Amino acid sequence: MPTNHKTVKPAELATLRDPRWQAVVRRDRAFDGKFFYSVKTTGVYCRPSCAARLARPENVGFHLSQADARQAGFRPCKRCKPDLMDAESVRFAIGASSLGRVLVAQSAQGICAIVLADDAKRMESDFLKRYPRAVRDGAGMAKPLAAVLKFIEQPSQGLALPLDMRGTEFQQRVWNALARIPAGQTASYADVARRVRAPKAIRAVAQACAANAIAVAIPCHRVVASDGSLSGYRWGAARKRELLAREAAA
Ligand SMILES: [Zn+2]
Repeated sequence: MPTNHKTVKPAELATLRDPRWQAVVRRDRAFDGKFFYSVKTTGVYCRPSCAARLARPENVGFHLSQADARQAGFRPCKRCKPDLMDAESVRFAIGASSLGRVLVAQSAQGICAIVLADDAKRMESDFLKRYPRAVRDGAGMAKPLAAVLKFIEQPSQGLALPLDMRGTEFQQRVWNALARIPAGQTASYADVARRVRAPKAIRAVAQACAANAIAVAIPCHRVVASDGSLSGYRWGAARKRELLAREAAA
């Protein structure tokens, strides 16, 4: 009996073995926003439910977020328009760290909040005031939560997840400047104001630091007063002191 010895490429096998592929084959809307897939031959990325002709599995890649797909060089598909998806499809999970309870929230674009607190219930209700439609998803958020918890214990290791920084253009400039302060170092509010080419805007810089919603990953804890004193921290001065001590020791 003749057998068909078709060679299976590793890339094809990786896709076929990925449970997300079945969601793409079914064009399952329930997975929209949970992941995206890209097609190497067309250079676009899609929602799982995209109605376009099914791509060959060896050309398909999977992405946790649109930011990830874009970083990999793909552009949004014109047919399923993943870039126009509801940006408020936010999921979150809560875990425990040496700095207390940690809430991690993710949108289609990336991590949009990391909150540190002592009281998980209150942390959750405060968070839901800001994101009333956010969904708690312990299973779906297990991986990013684990990555953030590990990162909080060792901030100098960095966090390899895209961030969804939501703020004004000025706030984004400040947050990007904070991200360039290396672990183990600090800067003053005046330093940061100079770095964003707004040397007189020290107060606005301090306000942008206070408005940071992504603890540790946007390292506002590395900004201290000009006299070197700790100054304020949205998630408590004790946590700021501990983070700085940890980073200085690393
Ligand atoms: Zn598409």
